[in-house]
Amino acid sequence: MDDSKPLILIVEDSSVNGRLCERLLNKGGFDTAVCTDGESAIEFVNTNLPDLILLDIVMPGIDGFEFCRVMKNNPKIKDTPIIFLSAMDDEKSIINGFDSGAVDFITKPFRHRELLARTKTHVELKRAKEKLLRLAITDELTGLVNRRYFMGRLLHEYERTKRYESVFTVLMIDLDYFKNINDTYGHQAGDSVLRKVSDSMKLSLRLSDIIGRIGGEEFAVILPETEIGAAMIIGDRLRKRIDDMEINHKDTGIKITISIGVSPSSKNDLSIDDVLQRADSALYRAKENGRNRIYAG
Ligand code: GH3
Ligand code: MG
Ligand code: MG
Ligand code: MG
Repeated sequence: MDDSKPLILIVEDSSVNGRLCERLLNKGGFDTAVCTDGESAIEFVNTNLPDLILLDIVMPGIDGFEFCRVMKNNPKIKDTPIIFLSAMDDEKSIINGFDSGAVDFITKPFRHRELLARTKTHVELKRAKEKLLRLAITDELTGLVNRRYFMGRLLHEYERTKRYESVFTVLMIDLDYFKNINDTYGHQAGDSVLRKVSDSMKLSLRLSDIIGRIGGEEFAVILPETEIGAAMIIGDRLRKRIDDMEINHKDTGIKITISIGVSPSSKNDLSIDDVLQRADSALYRAKENGRNRIYAG
């Protein structure tokens, strides 16, 4: 995604100016779309995600300042940089532009190469920020979310569930006798098993479920709006899927199983640790009773 041509949305009521910007940006290596008022631009961003917005101030309908504030209140688009491009060059307008959430302000008439340079800078900054954010939440080996992000989401789900008096369920998952895999086939084979198991589990879950790698060979899942009964079925499907899987390594097929501890949230919980502790002790019992099984706590 980072290598695709950036899309610049030009919001500008003057068709002459709109076309000029479009030509300029296309020549500079950007894709463009033009909307001639704020209302149609709001519709445009409902179905498209521009990398940057170039914004006029004086337009029929809502003006640029108002449009900018609408963008900053839209979670999907709030991090998209906005540059004002306007003939209003008084201090008050410029400050108003920054206050409404813009990253830059270029006054008309403008220098063509300056517009290109500023656009490029802000697109690059935005993409670098996205990349850092992705790296910060991702477990490098498996591509799942990492422990820190998972725990943050879990806390969020816990609070949301308290507020709406609903329920979620947590699965704690630990690979069985994983140390044997490393000892028998080597650490690289172990890593490969961790990746294959992660991929397989991720594929069996819904997009709204959150699965993270929370330790070396430990994983956890949040099932939002899910009662214990449904969670046991989902968890056992995971367990069976891994049990049925054979992981190719050199000339052999490696077999692995997982144990799972499950716990739903309860209205009596005093903190998220209560839910985690129940899932943990259920996992412990699954291990004690022979592994490759799922227990509720
Ligand atoms: P149990 O069924 O009781 O869970 O046994 P186990 O062998 O899975 O448990 P144990 O906690 O003794 O061993 C976990 C092993 O996981 C030890 C560690 O070397 C290995 N491990 C942890 N992280 C990684 C990793 O990133 N890659 C590889 N290859 N191995 C890892
Ligand atoms: Mg105008
Ligand atoms: Mg472990
Ligand atoms: Mg283990």
